[in-house]
Amino acid sequence: MAITDSSVIGVIDLQGGVAEHLNHLKEIGIAARAIKCAAELDGLSGLIIPGGESTCMSRLMRSFGLDCAIRRAYDNGLKIWGTCAGAILLARENTSGLPPFFGFIDMVVDRNAFGSQLDSFSCNATIPAVVEQDSIPLTFIRAPKIVHVGKGVRVLLKINDDYIAAAESDQILVTVFHPELTASLAFHRYFASKCNLPQASYIEEDKIVDLNWTPKSWMRFSSHV
Ligand code: GLN
Repeated sequence: MAITDSSVIGVIDLQGGVAEHLNHLKEIGIAARAIKCAAELDGLSGLIIPGGESTCMSRLMRSFGLDCAIRRAYDNGLKIWGTCAGAILLARENTSGLPPFFGFIDMVVDRNAFGSQLDSFSCNATIPAVVEQDSIPLTFIRAPKIVHVGKGVRVLLKINDDYIAAAESDQILVTVFHPELTASLAFHRYFASKCNLPQASYIEEDKIVDLNWTPKSWMRFSSHV
């Protein structure tokens, strides 16, 4: 039986940074659930395709029948946010010549554009469209570059004048970095408002940082600690 709840954001739970996204949504008072099968997509307000490894995730999505179900949900208006590998899967084209997976957003991505995993890095940026004033910490893990966006796609962040790190269309948000791996809640709040989900009344209006977050926060999700 399909599970229906129109004020929930789902996070695809096949591979990658799932728990961290669920945690950030909880911190801003948004109901969230991990999505493993097609029926669980029904009635969602928004969907996050996390970072991880895009080839692996695309194969798992096919095996679990989630690719067709996500296409149908997108056609019915579902808002989707892809982080890093998730953004690669949403792009219309990638420079490696591989066929696009979803192709929901008119942009071209250059996968693994900075080199190997060892070339991962972090920096800070101000993104006025997402949060006023504050500079946001950004974590890039073997990230792609967005090298071109087409009509109907707004650039939210450009770095070093030559590549786009965050963009959106009416239905899709993409970030090539990982807000869920930082203390910043700004992008999760931004996506919740894109999904027309009201801010929970018990969360302070200006809460854009999880003060309890540490770089080791993810360890509390591990069954080994
Ligand atoms: N390099 C990965 C890929 O190509 C993406 C990395 C990530 O999601 N952090 O799929």
